[in-house]
Amino acid sequence: MTSPLHPETLAIRGARAGSGYGEHSQALFLTSSFTYDTAEEARALFLGETEGFTYTRTANPTVSAFAARMAQLEKAESGVATASGMAAIQATLMALLQAGDHVVTSKSLFGTTIGLLNTLPAYGIEVTFVAQTDVSAWQAAMRPNTKMLLLETPSNPLGEIADIVALAQMAHAAGALLAVDNCFCSPALQQPIALGADLSIQSATKAIDGQGRVMGGAVCGSAALIEIIFKHVRTAGQIMSPFNAWVLLSGLETLYVRMEKQCANALILAQWLQTCPQVEAVYYPGLPEHPQAELVRQQQSAGGIVVTFAVKGGQAEAWQVVDALNIFSRTGNLGDVKSTVTHPFTTTHARVEPAEKIATGITPNLLRLSIGLEHIDDLRADLQQALDQL
Ligand SMILES: *Cc1c(COP(=O)(O)O)cnc(C)c1O
Repeated sequence: MTSPLHPETLAIRGARAGSGYGEHSQALFLTSSFTYDTAEEARALFLGETEGFTYTRTANPTVSAFAARMAQLEKAESGVATASGMAAIQATLMALLQAGDHVVTSKSLFGTTIGLLNTLPAYGIEVTFVAQTDVSAWQAAMRPNTKMLLLETPSNPLGEIADIVALAQMAHAAGALLAVDNCFCSPALQQPIALGADLSIQSATKAIDGQGRVMGGAVCGSAALIEIIFKHVRTAGQIMSPFNAWVLLSGLETLYVRMEKQCANALILAQWLQTCPQVEAVYYPGLPEHPQAELVRQQQSAGGIVVTFAVKGGQAEAWQVVDALNIFSRTGNLGDVKSTVTHPFTTTHARVEPAEKIATGITPNLLRLSIGLEHIDDLRADLQQALDQL
């Protein structure tokens, strides 16, 4: 689906569903089923002999428009929309794997994704967790029955980068697929499929909505792979609600301009935090000092909207900063135009074993910020007054 139009234009004027009444806004088809003029028309529709809609679990025009526009932005042939980001990951795993298969993945994954992968052995699918940035560890974990490599880059919350080009080559040499959770960048900053990945998975709940309203997810890739995942989604029912698709289509219209400004704000704050005496370390892919700065430059068009930093001290000091902030929302969501603060050790990663957390760098003094669209001076002043209380 290569288009001569720029992604900023496609995000606004790409795939859409019209009612036929000429509405300028996106039409919302809030209906569970569709009617047919004749029994013969129903027969042909159900067999797929004619194009059209029968039942929203199977397909809905607003939802299909969202999935198609996501595919345009991800530079993929096709896309499928799901109820949430987790539904997108679950559908990908369940549709493409079977008992006896093996998955290699990163230790630095979203906590709920780790929980989901830990359910796979019950279905006869083995999983090996390796270090995100160590390509040789991924290679060493490969087995004859490895069918999928799954990763997330940059990682949450430390912004570690996985080498998509190298891992795609590794996967393909072994006859396996590479699936990339593109949530932290969104297609506005990174297109994993253009770098060689087979599938790009998205939690639309985050930056695509951008205003923290609805849940949603998407998987984009080749028409052949998406057809398999789509069949699973419509059968298992992890479908996106038409209302959510309608909200998320509006979210896409402003995605690029929001991400550009939020990334600019994030870079300013990351660089400023580096100068604060109360701060021990700053983790942000957009910093020139990032240990994988060259790889960041190759894969992403900006550093992203998540800035993580360690305060000097421990959990008490980190919590003191969280509680002293007045503008930043204390919440787990990210990608919102409202800036947020999270203490990963006791929230997003609360269920991970303490020793495992420390081993992967998620220490009790770590704070994760998602930077929004408030004025940069207000955000900096809020952080300054909170740090000054230490
Ligand atoms: C939030 C998140 C998910 C899950 O998405 P939901 O929409 O909450 O189900 C998956 N991966 C990453 C990296 C996330 O941040």
